[in-house]
Amino acid sequence: MSQRTFSIVKPDAFRKGFTGAILAEMAKAGFKVVAIKKASISKVQAAGFYAVHKERPFFDSLTTFMSSGPIVLMVLEKENAIADLRKLMGATNPANAEDGTLRKLFAASIEENAVHGSDAEDTAAFEIGYWFAGYELV
Ligand code: GDP
Repeated sequence: MSQRTFSIVKPDAFRKGFTGAILAEMAKAGFKVVAIKKASISKVQAAGFYAVHKERPFFDSLTTFMSSGPIVLMVLEKENAIADLRKLMGATNPANAEDGTLRKLFAASIEENAVHGSDAEDTAAFEIGYWFAGYELV
């Protein structure tokens, strides 16, 4: 059954001009774009998005990074979208990411790791609703 997931081209990848190449890899892997928009988010918006990480030592650095420049927010759809996007992205730390994954190809460090992808059905639902209104998803 077709499933939706949420993804971000993070500020490092956007700044380096990798947005088009990342979207091309996603299309090649069978993802359809349901919704897409460029945004420059505030640190408060980033903190709300990453609230689950608020006790982690890297939280302040992560929210500063995510609000440091434009990003691309996306809702993607395909069969098994959530797990398949995680596979396409590769490990959080690009040093551990497999060849051919987005993070191996485009990420610089464990923080500046090029892309975000929801990790479960409940987080995908929260993340899509956090960034997109219903009328943007028809
Ligand atoms: P993801 O699901 O692979 O994105 O990883 P997590 O949910 O564990 O972490 C969210 C984001 O926080 C990651 O994508 C990184 O941008 C950042 N991050 C994760 N671990 C670290 C870390 O140990 N140090 C720093 N500076 N950032 C991290």
